[in-house]
Amino acid sequence: MTHETWGLVREQLAVRIGKNNYTTWIEPLKLTTLANGVAHFEVPTTFFGNWVSRNYSDHILNHLQSSGAEVGRVEFSVVRPTEAEAKPAPRPVAKPVARGSDDLPGSPLDARFTFDSFVVGKPNELAHAAARRVAEGGPVTFNPLFLYGGVGLGKTHLMHAIAHELQIRQPHLRVLYLSAEQFMYRFVQALRERQIMDFKEIFRSVDVLMVDDVQFIAGKDSTQEEFFHTFNVLVDQNKQIVISADRAPGEIKDLEDRIKSRLQCGLVVDLHPTDYELRLGILQTKAEYYRSQYKGLQMATGVLEFLAHRITTNVRVLEGALTRLFAFASLVGREITLELTQDCLADILRASDRKLTIEEIQRKVAEHYNIRLADMIGPKRLRNIARPRQVAMYLAKQLTLRSLPEIGRRFGGRDHTTIMHGVKRIEELMSTDSQLSDDVTLLRRLLQG
Ligand code: ADP
Ligand code: MG
Repeated sequence: MTHETWGLVREQLAVRIGKNNYTTWIEPLKLTTLANGVAHFEVPTTFFGNWVSRNYSDHILNHLQSSGAEVGRVEFSVVRPTEAEAKPAPRPVAKPVARGSDDLPGSPLDARFTFDSFVVGKPNELAHAAARRVAEGGPVTFNPLFLYGGVGLGKTHLMHAIAHELQIRQPHLRVLYLSAEQFMYRFVQALRERQIMDFKEIFRSVDVLMVDDVQFIAGKDSTQEEFFHTFNVLVDQNKQIVISADRAPGEIKDLEDRIKSRLQCGLVVDLHPTDYELRLGILQTKAEYYRSQYKGLQMATGVLEFLAHRITTNVRVLEGALTRLFAFASLVGREITLELTQDCLADILRASDRKLTIEEIQRKVAEHYNIRLADMIGPKRLRNIARPRQVAMYLAKQLTLRSLPEIGRRFGGRDHTTIMHGVKRIEELMSTDSQLSDDVTLLRRLLQG
């Protein structure tokens, strides 16, 4: 009789709390006795018992009562492990090890992504400092650390660096790094294999949790839900959480509001698009490495500067370009010159260029010198018009892949020799006229974003 009642109540609960919660929390409950006003259930683990007690005991009680059961209280206790269950489980995730991170289901770490190999510049200064702070493993000062920024700007690199550093400094800490996609995959797998308690226990037992590319779980309701609970439990225990995403928490579509607001509670830091100095720094570091790999390979001066100017998309593309360049040069046994670079990387350079048009350059320069855009194309020869026009020609030559005749056409049909003259003139002036040189540097930066 009581078991029939329980069967009925289970069905009601499934409707009340949703299929997922039902499968996770109610299905595994075993009603053992209902006597003296107490309904007694067996649960698989203490954690499970606490969780159900805290979250679902009221529901269970209400439904039992309204089904006519004489009950005033529900109790949960752990099943005494049978001999088979008490044996260490064969799956590594269930290892009852409480030290270190070896048993954690993390994503692999890239050994190259360390703090040593991370080049710091203005755009990533704060993110780097915050990551360093977390990597010290001291008291939690901000939680979570939320790193966001466009693709290829170093979010994953920084997270791996934190993990590496913590492994060295605080080897006893349980550090779990994984992509949001892996998180979902593990969660779904746990649901399917009815290992959800193990899953929860593992995720709630870590000291530092890092979830990369969290935007991935937006719109995936039960994964979000689980992530939210994990997140809350860890924050309540003052465990450090590091999250990355491709945009700010508030801008992730289809992410629940309560999650957004929890994510905003800590330190939210963005990695800005790279600037010229940072790109050059990264290129120099990598080039040094490649020079040691490809011994004897020569590189002309100015190549790295050229690449830092021209490839402005992201660091991954920059690295890819350099890798290809060195591989190609070593294959053909030639010095890496500007010419070779342009040949070898034509497609990358073109793709990076697509954004910047000669018209944009003309507009920016006109704006800067406070002249009319029409004067860029027009015939006026006055110095205060002609000089800015030459600056625009120079920048068009530097920042686009257009040929001199093409540039000439866009400057009101001027001859290519006029353009060449203009470019030369600015090059000369830049070494003597510091005002002009500053103007050009500033404009270049503005144009490259
Ligand atoms: P994200 O996760 O933001 O998309 P990654 O961390 O995967 O970007 O970085 C892409 C590539 O660029 C990696 O190879 C990484 O090592 C490199 N990288 C990014 N920023 C830096 C930096 N500041 N210094 C050195 N390498 C960097
Ligand atoms: Mg990444």
